Amino acid sequence: MIRPGATLGVLGGGQLGLLFALSARRAGFRTVVLDPDPQAPAMACADWTIVARYDDTEALLRLSESCQAITTEFENVPAASLEFLATRGVVRPSALSVAICQDRIREKTFLADNGFLTAPFIVVAGSSRPTPETIAPLLPGILKTSREGYDGKGQWPIDTIDDLFSVTDTLPGPFILEKKLDLDRELSLVIARGSDGRTALYPVSENFHERGILHLSAVPADIPQEISGKIREIGEAIAQGLDYTGVMAVEYFLDRSGRLYVNEMAPRPHNSGHYTIDACVASQFDQQVRSLCDLPLASPRLLSPCSMGNLLGDLWPEEDLPDFAPILSEPRAKLTLYGKKSPRPGRKMGHFTVLGESVRESASLSRSILTRLYQNVSALPSGKDRTIS
Ligand code: ADP
Ligand code: MG
Repeated sequence: MIRPGATLGVLGGGQLGLLFALSARRAGFRTVVLDPDPQAPAMACADWTIVARYDDTEALLRLSESCQAITTEFENVPAASLEFLATRGVVRPSALSVAICQDRIREKTFLADNGFLTAPFIVVAGSSRPTPETIAPLLPGILKTSREGYDGKGQWPIDTIDDLFSVTDTLPGPFILEKKLDLDRELSLVIARGSDGRTALYPVSENFHERGILHLSAVPADIPQEISGKIREIGEAIAQGLDYTGVMAVEYFLDRSGRLYVNEMAPRPHNSGHYTIDACVASQFDQQVRSLCDLPLASPRLLSPCSMGNLLGDLWPEEDLPDFAPILSEPRAKLTLYGKKSPRPGRKMGHFTVLGESVRESASLSRSILTRLYQNVSALPSGKDRTIS
């Protein structure tokens, strides 16, 4: 057991690192953050910072010498760096868990091998082109880079075989081509798992995306108990299959015929779990601290139905701040800002949580706040008209 007063290391200083550091601080721990960007949000509240690349051996050595246990907030940390750190101390989640979750081919293969339903897919790699017969059942499809994609980046809609080759012939792979499902709902589950195998499962969140980026989460998801039960069962089985220690999220798709698919996993706390900070006994970041330190997990119980809206850089006028009045004037809304210095379109700058009487009421309040916030943002980065549902 690692006790308060100890120093915890985190690879990555984004908002997830910041929120981890805040939880760690509150629980009496110190933190050291490694990130290549000296302006990364978590740098502002870490006790010590190491500005270096994730594969800088000398920096990794310094990190491991300065703390008692290390976690990650950035899923694209090279697995080799985690393996190296694990030879010198406690690293959670394991390099293997992160390696599986950060590579769509390994991830989908793990899921398929363990009997979890995913969208039908094929691997497109190297110079061998798949045949029209193998591709046909997957159209219309979505081509995804196997590595480094996030927030819908590194994805292309594929309607014809020529669409496919126009990407795979010009960009380095490997890729996954998966069938585009007729989605009814997108759902996610955050799970904390201790090294003793005990778990704490948060309620299922229903997620709404805009341009591939999470826009709104509503909790608990308004779905039949049978489906949320299945989601929890699958999530636990995945965490167990990975022998996972730490906090992870599983994303699911529910199609219009009621079939449930696993979309992907994140080996870290998840944007759709930010509501846990304001609406649960313990947040996903509190559990990240506890599981890292071998402390008993706290209760994940939801104290109030809620919803969470994301605040993207699109909202930030040049050299100024957005008008947060729609959030601040709502007494049941809580605002969190990450302190990022450069608000680029699509960049996550903060979020708000609305605690409500019911999930419907809360989600409708969040939607109206989002509509008011985004109404003055005239154009999407792509040049398309902005439509926020
Ligand atoms: P990311 O790593 O960017 O989150 P995802 O695989 O989760 O990548 O895809 C982002 C979004 O794109 C999903 O939340 C969903 O809205 C849509 N999407 C992805 N795969 C499919 C699919 N097979 N069928 C339908 N929609 C999909
Ligand atoms: Mg996703």
